[in-house]
Amino acid sequence: MGAHTGDFDDLLAANRAYAETFDMAGFDGIAHAGVAIVTCMDSRIAPLTMVGLRPGDAKIFRNPGGRVTPQALEALVLATHLLNVHRVLVVPHTRCAMTASSERELRKRIGDSAGLDATWQLFSVVEDQLAALEDDVQKVRAHPLIPDTVTVGGFLYDVDTGLLEQKF
Ligand SMILES: [Zn+2]
Repeated sequence: MGAHTGDFDDLLAANRAYAETFDMAGFDGIAHAGVAIVTCMDSRIAPLTMVGLRPGDAKIFRNPGGRVTPQALEALVLATHLLNVHRVLVVPHTRCAMTASSERELRKRIGDSAGLDATWQLFSVVEDQLAALEDDVQKVRAHPLIPDTVTVGGFLYDVDTGLLEQKF
């Protein structure tokens, strides 16, 4: 499954057009709006624009389900100490695939797609989305290396209305 010359031509052409009006040369890497967002990899989520931000404003960490994983905490420790972040939003969403299936069901679907055994693959499914969100928010608030001055909120993003609702 190696890449072949030409496989990415459409995206590279779009990138050249993007670079023609690119104006962030020399811009630093801090979060200018002081915001970090942990959210799902779901393609329906536009994490910056949904809260009125632009590139340069925020740190974004994404994974399946928008979970506060050890890697998310690593990112938030760096972001709060070195990158100007003082507000953190944890944002799972409605109709998330990670809440719609059991781990067993996902392993079956992936196994069928791959034509291989997938029973060993970990999928971090969420049985109770609000309970998981509350736990995730608490993980950030309780982290010894994330300062108490950082404000942490847990929100649910509705992929059908575009609205965020604060839960925690
Ligand atoms: Zn999702």
